[in-house]
Amino acid sequence: MEPRILRADGKSRFLLFCDHASNAVPEELRNLGLPESELARHIAWDIGAAGVTEELSDILDAPAVLSGVSRLVIDCNRQLHASDLIPETSDGTVIPGNLHLNEAAKAARIRLWFHPYHDAVESVLLQREAKGAESTVVSIHSMTPMLGKESRPWQIALSSYLDRSLTEIVLAALRQSGDVVVGDNQPYDLDPKVDYSTPYHALRRGLPHIQVEFRQDEIADAANQRSWAVRFARALRQVERT
Ligand SMILES: [Zn+2]
Repeated sequence: MEPRILRADGKSRFLLFCDHASNAVPEELRNLGLPESELARHIAWDIGAAGVTEELSDILDAPAVLSGVSRLVIDCNRQLHASDLIPETSDGTVIPGNLHLNEAAKAARIRLWFHPYHDAVESVLLQREAKGAESTVVSIHSMTPMLGKESRPWQIALSSYLDRSLTEIVLAALRQSGDVVVGDNQPYDLDPKVDYSTPYHALRRGLPHIQVEFRQDEIADAANQRSWAVRFARALRQVERT
């Protein structure tokens, strides 16, 4: 359940993190009252994203931090006051273990599973800063091909806010081959009122950043996770040239 840190001393300028890497639910929460089939769905985690993050960390020699619990336990990419920080429903599924939580129960989840993840990201950033290494933050997510009745044509998508400098470079690199459908702020933009991780770790510090969504059916197995990581690493290397 602890967040995982890979290659803390990696030499890359990129620091990767994956907010929704795991679908694990701590034993005391008894699967939040859900069957395993619901915990396997995209509502519990970003399917395939952990594998892509691990591959990218390997290819780039980049440090990576991966969350250790399901976003149904607590969503590490939501503001602490957000109503969906601990969601009562998600994509049509009621989460019984999240209904009518009192303040103490919410505070415990924040203490046990939200802060340790963000503290891990922070500690890697600070260690690098102390060594004089600049970090470019890469936030890695995956999206379901269908949400409700909406289907997503984009195989990969970047989410940006005001600073689009690196986003533009990576978008251009991804589109260069001509055979990939790339989303630009579709289906999601980066919204500091909604997102937590990139605003907290990058925008607050003025660090260069990229936020990416891979479509889950594109990264469903290890081979495809590897090939998308190779493709994305190639696009990130265009940033390294700047
Ligand atoms: Zn995500």
